[in-house]
Amino acid sequence: MMEFAARLLVDLEAVAANWRLLARASGAAACGAAIKADGYGLGARPVMDALMAAGARDFFVANWAEATALGPLPEGTRLAVFHGITPQEMALAVALGPQVRPVLNTAAQVALWKQTGRVADVMVETGMNRLGLSDFTVLEGLAVDTLHSHLACADMPKHPMNAAQLAAFRGAVAVVKAERRALANSPGIGLGADYHFDLTRPGIGIYGAGPSAARADLRPVVAIEAPVLQVRDVAVGGAVGYGATFVAARPTRVAVAALGYADGYPRALAGHGSAVVNGTRCALLGRVSMDLTAFDVSDAGDVAEGDWLAVDFDVGIVAAALGRAEYELLTGLGHRYARVYK
Ligand SMILES: *Cc1c(COP(=O)(O)O)cnc(C)c1O
Repeated sequence: MMEFAARLLVDLEAVAANWRLLARASGAAACGAAIKADGYGLGARPVMDALMAAGARDFFVANWAEATALGPLPEGTRLAVFHGITPQEMALAVALGPQVRPVLNTAAQVALWKQTGRVADVMVETGMNRLGLSDFTVLEGLAVDTLHSHLACADMPKHPMNAAQLAAFRGAVAVVKAERRALANSPGIGLGADYHFDLTRPGIGIYGAGPSAARADLRPVVAIEAPVLQVRDVAVGGAVGYGATFVAARPTRVAVAALGYADGYPRALAGHGSAVVNGTRCALLGRVSMDLTAFDVSDAGDVAEGDWLAVDFDVGIVAAALGRAEYELLTGLGHRYARVYK
């Protein structure tokens, strides 16, 4: 079937280039990649394959469903599951084989995983009070691959929390025997070599967004294109869309595109959004519907039903305009798109 729904254009070369930049910035540390939430909404498996080719070997997902969805892993890759392990997931986790391991967060998770005799990663609590162990005595008898902690304020380099967490992590490193140590997410890499340890765990920067020291050099990764379902001429005084919030002050040619808030195109973009067609920027008209959005193509020359609009969706700009996080914009891109990789 030829897709006639909005599509996401995902630039895997940009993904690889962004990762290489973060890998270089990680200095002597190996650089992994967070591909949780389906690769921040862009497709975990294509991202993984592109990064594998670029040299990445360590990947991170949130849970076992995401680990399973990746399918068979390329030889040489290692996948860690941030949420750890529950009794219900043990059989599945063991069946996935030694390339996949949990990041253990609690004493109960540690006790459970010890039954397998396999290595695991461990997350330790250093001040964020999210996931992670505080009592390291329970680790006796567990073979630890990578010892992790996670920074709460890495996007604020001057925040005292960073140094406090670094000191707490060093305390854990001194008492927990592990093959490797990892602390930094994307913004954490920019805090300097002290924060790099043996492995870094960038996510958002790979996808060309979010806070990081390298932000200015990151390449955008995602673009939205939406097909025009209907073009109509609206006379002066005519309204467009729910709430009749747009009323034409001039004769207006309206293109209605197959894109809406169910696609993660924010409803709050009413009054802000735009699209480009024939090189002309066209304003969003009225409200964003669940599945449809209208644009003013009066000045864009010939626009026909079946044409494609390049919808403006610079995540940095949209996030700033709407007071949203780039993370939630990317991961909110729904599953109705055809994801097109180049
Ligand atoms: C999501 C996540 C990352 C990646 O963070 P970014 O800010 O996207 O670079 C790293 N570590 C942990 C524990 C995470 O949950």
